[in-house]
Amino acid sequence: MNLEEYKGVYVYAQQVDGTLSGIAFELLGKAKDLASDLKTDVTAVLIGSDVKGLADELAAYGADKVIVVDDPELKDYRTEPYTHALASVINEYKPEIMLVGATAIGRDLGPRVSARVATGLTADCTQLEIGDFPLNPMPGKEQKHNQLLMTRPAFGGNTIATIACPDNRPQMATVRPGVMQKIDKIDGAKAEVIEYNPGFTPDNKYVEIIDIVKSVSETVDIMDAKILVSGGRGVGSPENFKLLEDLAEAIGGEVSCSRAVVDNGWKPKDLQVGQTGKTVRPQVYFAIGISGAIQHVAGMEESDLIIAINKDETAPIFEVADYGIVGDLNKILPQLTEQIKAA
Ligand code: FAD
Repeated sequence: MNLEEYKGVYVYAQQVDGTLSGIAFELLGKAKDLASDLKTDVTAVLIGSDVKGLADELAAYGADKVIVVDDPELKDYRTEPYTHALASVINEYKPEIMLVGATAIGRDLGPRVSARVATGLTADCTQLEIGDFPLNPMPGKEQKHNQLLMTRPAFGGNTIATIACPDNRPQMATVRPGVMQKIDKIDGAKAEVIEYNPGFTPDNKYVEIIDIVKSVSETVDIMDAKILVSGGRGVGSPENFKLLEDLAEAIGGEVSCSRAVVDNGWKPKDLQVGQTGKTVRPQVYFAIGISGAIQHVAGMEESDLIIAINKDETAPIFEVADYGIVGDLNKILPQLTEQIKAA
C-alpha cells in the first residue's frame, strides 16, 4: 500500500429520511481541525436516495467537497448496499482519514467498511488529534509523524487508550456522538459536489425492508436537551425523583441520571449520563445527589453551566461545578422549584 496516495479527511455524513444527523456536523467540526493540521481539505460522503440537496448544509458546516452516492437502493439504511457504497468511495478517492459516527448505523457500517478496504478501525473514540506515533518510541524504532491519534476508553472504561494505524490507510475511527463540537454555521458556503455511483448488483441487495416501525418516545433525547436535571443515588428512591421532575418542569428541562440510578432500576438506561451512558452538553446541568465520579463527569463536564447540590461538601462534583449548594436535596429542591415558579 502506497500511503502517499491517500489524502484528505473524510466524514460519513449520516442522514436518515433525508435529514442529516447531528453527528455529521460534529464530525465535520473535528475534521476541520484535523485537516488544518494536515494542510488538507474536508470531504463529506453523503449516501442515500434523493439526498443531493443536503450538500449545501454540509458545506455550511465545514465540508469543502461533498461526494454524493445517490441511488433508490439507498433509500433506507441497509448494511450491504451502504457498505458497498462507502467502501467503493474509499477505494476510488483514497482518503487519509475516514470518520464515522458511533451511532447505531455507524457502529454497523464502520467496522464492515474497514474490513472491506483492509484497514483498521478504532471504535467509539472520544478524542482525535494529529501527532507522532508511537508516543514514546523505543530506541531504534521509527516514530511516524502526522498520524491520527485515536483515543478511547478501554478495558470497560478503566483505562484510556491512544491507538494509531501507522501502516494502513485510511485511518478509520467511529466517534462518540456528543463529544466533538460542530463549527458555527457559515451561511452561503458552497462545496464542490461530486456525484459517484459504484452501481448496485443483486449481490449487494439481499436484505429487503418490508416495514419500518419507528419507536415512539414521549421524552426528549437527553443529548438534545438544553437543561438537564440529573439525579444520583442520593435522591434515595424512584418516587423521590418527583422532586427533580417538578424542577425540570418549572424550568423547561429534562431529567437524566447517574449509572447508580440505572443500576438500581430507578430509571431507564437511555437517561444515563457518563462514560457508559450518553455524553451531554446542555446549557445548564443540575447534578443532584451525584458524587461526581470520573465516569460520570466524563459525560457532562462540557456543559455550559454546572450546578451541584450535595450534602457532602467534599463531594468531587463540586470540583467541576460552577455553582454548588451544600445541603439536603429534600429541603433545597422544593424551595428552588417554588422560587423559580414564583419568578
Ligand atoms: P454515589 O457515588 O453513591 O453518590 C451519591 C451522592 O449523593 C453522594 O455524594 C452523597 O453525598 C449525595 N447525597 C446523598 N444523600 C443526599 C441528600 N439527601 N442530599 C444531597 N446529597 C445527597 N457512572 C455514571 O454516572 N455514568 C457512567 O456512564 C458510568 N460508567 C462507568 C463505567 C465504569 C467502567 C465504571 C467502573 C463505573 C462507571 N460509573 C458510571 C459508576 C461511577 O463510578 C459511580 O459509581 C457512579 O457515578 C455513582 O453514582 P452516584 O453519584 O449517583 O452515587
